[in-house]
Amino acid sequence: MSDNNRLRIAIQKSGRLSKDCQDLLKQLGVKLNLREQRLIAHATNMPIDVLRVRDDDIPGLVMDGVCDLGIVGENVLVESQAERAAQSLNAEVTKLAKLDFGYCRLALAWPQELGQLPLSWFEGKKIATTYPEILKQYLKNQGINASTVLLSGSVEVAPRAGLADAICDLVSTGATLEANGLLQGETILESNACLIQNPSMDNQQKQALLDTLLPRLKAVRQAKE
Ligand code: ATP
Ligand code: ZN
Repeated sequence: MSDNNRLRIAIQKSGRLSKDCQDLLKQLGVKLNLREQRLIAHATNMPIDVLRVRDDDIPGLVMDGVCDLGIVGENVLVESQAERAAQSLNAEVTKLAKLDFGYCRLALAWPQELGQLPLSWFEGKKIATTYPEILKQYLKNQGINASTVLLSGSVEVAPRAGLADAICDLVSTGATLEANGLLQGETILESNACLIQNPSMDNQQKQALLDTLLPRLKAVRQAKE
């Protein structure tokens, strides 16, 4: 059984956020042995366990209290909150800090040959995305009726494959869109990685440890400015 006094932090196991998360933990003074491909890494110098999982699982692990803290993109957090709220599941987290990595935008894009398009063009169209809840909310706010096609990967090939008229996907440099003959449109959400906490963490030892980590986090961020 796990030690309930150890602070549990969920981070992405392998992907765009992994290296930055590992570096951040190191800068906070957390010593980890991450060489092994284990799900849980125990810090050797403080009562912290790091869970390495898919980024999509991080919000739920924190909301359900399986982990006390998590580092995840706001895009994944917002989508997961909307998804859970729709299922009447608890979707609360406390955002402790916005971090200075993982920046990307969730944006609409369509085949380049169509040229610039007004938002009204999307009426009645099919849009492929990994973020259907964020997209639906956006379309609703804009008064557009369009359908969403859920794809968890390779969203950018959907128009060419005839699966959708347009896409709503994450963009950082725009190179992937360009390589796929797509033109970038409206930004729906700007996102960074953020540190989240389970709001009902009720353990003095864990809280005391967190109270020593947060000022360090602030110092690390200030040193970079
Ligand atoms: P996992 O296997 O953990 O589910 P994934 O394939 O969903 O991984 P990654 O591609 O590693 O996720 O991206 C993780 C996060 O990095 C994204 O959710 C987003 O917050 C951020 N990110 C930053 N830039 C980009 C980008 N250009 N494309 C996609 N995600 C980006
Ligand atoms: Zn993912």
